[in-house]
Amino acid sequence: MGAAGGDAVKPAPFDYVAVTSLAEAVQALAAAGGDAKVLAGGQSLVPLMNLRLARPAVLVDINGIPGLDGIAVRPGHLALGALVRHADLAADAAVTAGWPVLHDAANLIGHPAIRNRGTVGGSLAHADPAAELPAVLAVLGGSVVAEGPRGAREIAAADLFVTYLTTSLEPDEILTEVRLPSLPPGAGSAFVEFARRHGDFALVGAAAVVATDGGRVTEARLALVGVGATPVRVDLGSLRGEPAGGGTWAAAGRLAAAAVDPDSDIHAPAAYRRELAGVMAERALARAAARAGGSAG
Ligand SMILES: Cc1cc2nc3c(=O)[nH]c(=O)nc-3n(C[C@H](O)[C@H](O)[C@H](O)COP(=O)(O)OP(=O)(O)OC[C@H]3O[C@@H](n4cnc5c(N)ncnc54)[C@H](O)[C@@H]3O)c2cc1C
Repeated sequence: MGAAGGDAVKPAPFDYVAVTSLAEAVQALAAAGGDAKVLAGGQSLVPLMNLRLARPAVLVDINGIPGLDGIAVRPGHLALGALVRHADLAADAAVTAGWPVLHDAANLIGHPAIRNRGTVGGSLAHADPAAELPAVLAVLGGSVVAEGPRGAREIAAADLFVTYLTTSLEPDEILTEVRLPSLPPGAGSAFVEFARRHGDFALVGAAAVVATDGGRVTEARLALVGVGATPVRVDLGSLRGEPAGGGTWAAAGRLAAAAVDPDSDIHAPAAYRRELAGVMAERALARAAARAGGSAG
């Protein structure tokens, strides 16, 4: 599969190992001494290898490990195997009913072909600052389980995302499970984003959770993508007790715009991203609030 020449759209030569158990995967990563990469859906890693921005000596393909593709509702949280595809998240009835923010986000990732292959574990391990799923993990206060030569450990969302394309996973660790806490009773949640073309990465996206007592906000949470090196949580504690309506969501949008400090890049100037952060925050909170009450959906 490797190419020896300097062709710009072919990867540098690499070894390929297809494993059938976690133990085998951990062993293969350890044996490569930090020069191996896990291959999941390949939707981020393979383009990077083709551009030679990534040159792992070994690819450890984990797609043959049984049991890593389950979606399970457990007491207090949703458990996702690392190999759950974005399309499976988008189609799952329990996700739609109980974790609408995840349903929305999964539907917004790329195009159908990417959603059919890309995995939740790959998205979180890749940690693209414009990706949807890291913000979902952040807004829900979730965690991931990582397995390595030193055993398994649980990493909270707040400790996982370090900076652009960088997590606190060690090179010899495999992300095996994602845990997303259940929403507070009566809460609604939503993900909205703005992209220049359908299927593009978002310029800015917002994940929101809102709980109300019918008329007033009892809890509001927000995480933004596209405005920093990692998902950015915005403190909305000041919304507690405010009327659950348009004026409050507009004020929260202004708060979010003031709280972020985006960089300018080839896609958008910083001032535009800041403005967009406010608009996306307002829309996500309004949509989450409209879903609050009754069932979480
Ligand atoms: C045209 C295009 C548009 C896209 N648009 C979007 C978008 O709008 N939003 C979005 O979020 N993504 C988008 N993507 C990326 C896509 O969602 C990827 O599926 C996702 O980012 C990575 O998942 P993967 O399973 O394909 O991971 P891979 O490409 O296989 O791996 C990505 C990285 O994660 C590591 N990794 C994978 N699984 C594990 C694991 N279990 N444990 C440890 N490390 C692991 C790999 O070693 C690699 O470093 C797009 C991709 C393309 C090609």
